[in-house]
Amino acid sequence: MAQAQRSIEILEALVGFDTTSRNSNLPLVEWIEDYLNRCGVAHERIPDRTGTKSNVWATIGPPATPGYILSGHTDVVPVDGQSWSSDPFHLTRRDGRLFGRGAADMKGFLACCLAAVPDMAARKLVRPIHLAISYDEEVGCIGVRGLIAHLRRAPARPVACFVGEPTGMGVVIGHKGKRSLRVDVKGRTCHSSLAPQGVNAVEYAARLIVKIRDIGERFAREGARDALYDVPYTTAHTGLVSGGTALNIVPDSCTFEFEFRTIAADDAGALVDEVVAYARERLEPEMKAVSREAGIRFEEKSGFPGLETPQTDEAVRLAKKLAGTGELGKVAFGTEAGLFAEAGIPSVVVGPGSIDQAHKADEFIAVSELEKCSAFVDKLIEHCA
Ligand SMILES: [Zn+2]
Repeated sequence: MAQAQRSIEILEALVGFDTTSRNSNLPLVEWIEDYLNRCGVAHERIPDRTGTKSNVWATIGPPATPGYILSGHTDVVPVDGQSWSSDPFHLTRRDGRLFGRGAADMKGFLACCLAAVPDMAARKLVRPIHLAISYDEEVGCIGVRGLIAHLRRAPARPVACFVGEPTGMGVVIGHKGKRSLRVDVKGRTCHSSLAPQGVNAVEYAARLIVKIRDIGERFAREGARDALYDVPYTTAHTGLVSGGTALNIVPDSCTFEFEFRTIAADDAGALVDEVVAYARERLEPEMKAVSREAGIRFEEKSGFPGLETPQTDEAVRLAKKLAGTGELGKVAFGTEAGLFAEAGIPSVVVGPGSIDQAHKADEFIAVSELEKCSAFVDKLIEHCA
């Protein structure tokens, strides 16, 4: 119980920092560093290029022995336009629930890990526990990439990574991969009464969007299946489009953004290649026949690899034991776990709270979820002692 109280106090401090991804996370980082200093734990910063944000890497136990990573991000999504019943940056308790931005996603997990640090430090750990605390997860898993690059030079490769995104402490071994792109279609303008003399950027964008949709329908119809997902196949989606100024002008510019979310059986790169090939081989020759300057430009927006950890992996076996569950699942949302796995560190997503509460007004985490998470971390300490 003392541990639960400590988790809540730490969560209160963490929620108090407005670490919306657009802001610096350094005030929060300094708070964590002060705390780790007081626990006598070594840590280092892995900053971004601008010096306004940083990851934190901390190791408790022998650094040259393969150990376990507990990983979480510090940033949160904006509260703009949301209607909250209480100040989102002031942790508020009602009916066994703790309300605040990031309470579930995912400062609650960080609070449980930090609350256990004094115990980790007091025990003679034979295998180390590392804390991997990142920035800019919510805007494309950006910060953790620097931390993972840094890990490649570490004295020992960790055995497993537990990413504490909210799963209700369920053991999640898979999520889809994502690729998203921005497309700029450049046409040639003219008066709409002379339409064939122009290159209508909106129409060419529309043809490309239909192509993307066709790919999505092909996967829905006959693509590979993974029954552990709510939507058990690879999906395609266009989410944003803008172009044109007036009906009597042939538009010379149109921009849109699309994404693929792939299950492990499918390769996002091949799907993007198919879209680009359609633009280059079918659309651009027609466009350029009217105007040399017309064309289609693709720009990578963001993406992350999917997660597909084998059920037989040691990391999965241990996560099940620590979480006290025999069940495994896969989730629709992306996490940093795919990047850890890509770097050769077997990874599992397991964390307190529910994704249903994340990103919304009145985000909360139940105190009972924090207790479950603390029990998980305590068993990990036991395992490493
Ligand atoms: Zn998250």
